[in-house]
Amino acid sequence: MLKMKTIPFITKGIKGFQRGHTVPIEIRLKISKIQIGKKYTEETKRKMSIAHKGKKLSPYPSDFGENIRKRLTGKKQSPEVIAKRVAGRRGYCHSEETKRKIGKANRRMIHKTDESKIWRHRDEYKKWRIQVFKRDSYTCQKCKRIGDELHPHHIRNFSENIKLRFCPANGIALCVKCHKKFHRKYGQRRNSMDQINEFIRC
Ligand SMILES: [Zn+2]
Ligand SMILES: [Zn+2]
Repeated sequence: MLKMKTIPFITKGIKGFQRGHTVPIEIRLKISKIQIGKKYTEETKRKMSIAHKGKKLSPYPSDFGENIRKRLTGKKQSPEVIAKRVAGRRGYCHSEETKRKIGKANRRMIHKTDESKIWRHRDEYKKWRIQVFKRDSYTCQKCKRIGDELHPHHIRNFSENIKLRFCPANGIALCVKCHKKFHRKYGQRRNSMDQINEFIRC
């Protein structure tokens, strides 16, 4: 549920965030305060839990991110504003309890993170990537363009084929555009040599 702790953050920068908005934030906060104290009947709780299943709950109003995005889109912060913001944070300390919570959340994140994301920073992976690019003459094997940003694509998936992870024969150089096109067409799992052959041919 909504925690009181998150509210001061929401009210930060209220003027800009408010622009063009129909429900004033004060009213919204009042509503959420009322909601906090509200006791739901067992029936309502049951319905809510069904409705929320599979949904990620956010402590912020559903259009919160959208408003921030609207406010930030096309606007760059001046160096003065950035400096002020940084200075404002300086000297700020998290409590021991908060630090513990952050650490726990981060550990959970790492655990959840796709394994390949961690491997991407390892030397073995970097070496493999260069081997693949060199063999393919730094050319996208689909559109044959040279000079575009290249991705080394794993012909058979990284996560599903441990032995083939760093085998150059299991890699192919694709430009970013073609790489995206490939995964849009064939998905991210159980990719195969047949798919790559078909993709390159047509
Ligand atoms: Zn790929
Ligand atoms: Zn390409």
